[in-house]
Amino acid sequence: MAEGLSIVRGACGHDCPDTCSWLVEVSEGRARRLYGDPSHPFTRGTLCAKVNHYLERVYHPERVLYPLRRDGRKGEGRFRRISWQDAMSEIAERWQEIISQEGAEAILPFSSAGNQGLIHHSSLDQRLGAVLGFSRLERNICGAVAHQGLSATQGNGIGINPEDLIHSRFIVLWGTNTIVTNLHLWPVILEARSRGAKIVVVDPVRTRTAEAADWHLAVRPGSDTVLALAMMHVIIRDGLVDRDYIDRHAVGFSQLADHVAGFSPESASEVTGLGKEVIERFAREYAQAQPSLLRPLIGLEHHRNGAMMFRTMACLPILTGAWRYRGGGLCRSTGAFQFSMLNMDKLLLPEHQRPGVRTLNMRDLGADLLSDRLAPPIRSLLVYNSNPAVSLPNQNLVRQGLKRDNLFTVVHDLFLTDTARFADIVLPATSQIEHLDLVPSWGHHYVTMNRPAVAPLGESVPNTELFRRLAAALGRSESWLFDSDETLLRSALQTEHPMMQGITYESLLEKGYQHLNHPEDWRPFAEGGFPTRSGKAELYSESLQDAGQDALPSPGEIRRGRRNQLQLISGKTLHYLNTGYSHMERHSRREGILQIRINSADADERGLCSGQLVRVFNELGEVEAVCEVSDVVQRGVAWAPFGGIADAANVQRHVNCLTPEEPTDWGGGSGFYDTFIDVESIPEDRGDRAGFGALEDPAGWGDDSCA
Ligand code: SF4
Repeated sequence: MAEGLSIVRGACGHDCPDTCSWLVEVSEGRARRLYGDPSHPFTRGTLCAKVNHYLERVYHPERVLYPLRRDGRKGEGRFRRISWQDAMSEIAERWQEIISQEGAEAILPFSSAGNQGLIHHSSLDQRLGAVLGFSRLERNICGAVAHQGLSATQGNGIGINPEDLIHSRFIVLWGTNTIVTNLHLWPVILEARSRGAKIVVVDPVRTRTAEAADWHLAVRPGSDTVLALAMMHVIIRDGLVDRDYIDRHAVGFSQLADHVAGFSPESASEVTGLGKEVIERFAREYAQAQPSLLRPLIGLEHHRNGAMMFRTMACLPILTGAWRYRGGGLCRSTGAFQFSMLNMDKLLLPEHQRPGVRTLNMRDLGADLLSDRLAPPIRSLLVYNSNPAVSLPNQNLVRQGLKRDNLFTVVHDLFLTDTARFADIVLPATSQIEHLDLVPSWGHHYVTMNRPAVAPLGESVPNTELFRRLAAALGRSESWLFDSDETLLRSALQTEHPMMQGITYESLLEKGYQHLNHPEDWRPFAEGGFPTRSGKAELYSESLQDAGQDALPSPGEIRRGRRNQLQLISGKTLHYLNTGYSHMERHSRREGILQIRINSADADERGLCSGQLVRVFNELGEVEAVCEVSDVVQRGVAWAPFGGIADAANVQRHVNCLTPEEPTDWGGGSGFYDTFIDVESIPEDRGDRAGFGALEDPAGWGDDSCA
């Protein structure tokens, strides 16, 4: 190692299942190189196309390094530098005034998974909000949907260890573009294929992963429940069930068998758009090729019937007894599993929560900001780990709310995001290489420590320090509002959970990452043990019945648009992470401008061709995009990238101005994919694709290396 050069272990904290372990080379107080840790068994020294250039983000000239006060109209983006002292005094003064006039519930801290580090996601922010009685936020528009659905059948959302997919013989990637959004799982899947596994993708869109799979089932959006019900029909009809497993570990088989008799492959074919023979063959191969594995992920969570999708899908490995086998069963997020092992009560101190404080769902921010019925109204927002002006559905409503003159908005971020442009005060946040944290993963079974490699740039502070400063400015003196980052992490690691044995603050500092402490051959439901009300897997659920829901798996609400409307699916891409990286020239150049992909039949009907500028609209809003005629999407479906995209005139273009903020079936999320749009050409004189910059790398389909 060169003299004066040190290497610091860290971990990516982005909203991504992979939680890559990285190494940072530092000299003279500056990070010189950041790369994947080759020793990590799962992430194997590889970072994605975005984070390969993370240091450009850290040292980006547009980074916010000092507190700012708004100097222009909301949204205009004009600010001037102020001191931290002035910023804290102004916030404290405004909040105390709001609290005395309206009560503390008029203040809403708004955050999401922009930072997935344990204490920067949730710790002192929750403690301060609890003791002051700020409005609470339901921070979930995706994952809760899946958790609700899986829990209805199997009692929790636990699945197998993702590394055990190498033992699978039939892998169904259902609603997930693994190569683009979960890239470190793909080598595991390829290893399984080299051992004889078949890889099947169920997705309305022929994604990059679907193209690389052995079989792609292009199901109609939202009809996945019907496909799963028809699979059960075939599996039961043809005697492919594991009766011993069902008899010992499940309830409700006879009711389910009667119920799915009505979901023949013929009838399912009409709803799903898949051929009857395809459904028959898929069901039989899935049931007969053990160990068979379902990997349902984010795509399914974005449908109105999302919870029912997961509830229904979870019945399949019960019927086939796939949980018995190593590599068999179901594998979704490992996030809740890891959090359940940490001492979250010690970290969050829920005993200090003021009773009776309201909870607002993040999905409804726009409506809540504009509501004249909310009592008290929201008078102040504190936004961190989040960019709600872009990432929430019904974006125009959110922006209208953020424009309110009588809303005092504070944003803590690294950049002047779309949301920060509406702020009264902007505060500088640290990047992941400037603070300490522990990063639980939702994509593997390693716990990773992130050590700071360099001092915070400029006057930036981590979330934890922000809340210590706010507590001081508000005159609080409780010592637990000022705990250090190390104390916070040690609190969370005070756990007796057997899978955390041997994982301590010291051992994580020394090793960087550690695998959960479970046997190598770990099969969560091989011997049943489902934590439901009945203690068994619930094919028929009395709990659901009591809650007024269908006791049996069902299709749920499958929406279709008006005649001639297209259903819009918006997916993640290689070079943006939600809205992150979209302002960086390297990444925006690779993604190109906003494009919308439509099928050739739909294009012909509208007289559209590739490269043409089109107007995409519905009752919620409109955007301009470049049309890409492509058979990766089926007839009646359109695909557009999700995330922040700026055109040459720096006008933001986001598909979330088209998505509705309607709750999913059991209330946990938002039906982003139940978006129906019209597409029409824009007259020649309004410009064309050339005016908006070249499209260098088609989002998510390019052969760009992830390394
Ligand atoms: S793959 Fe995910 S965890 Fe890994 S570096 Fe990229 S964003 Fe971070």
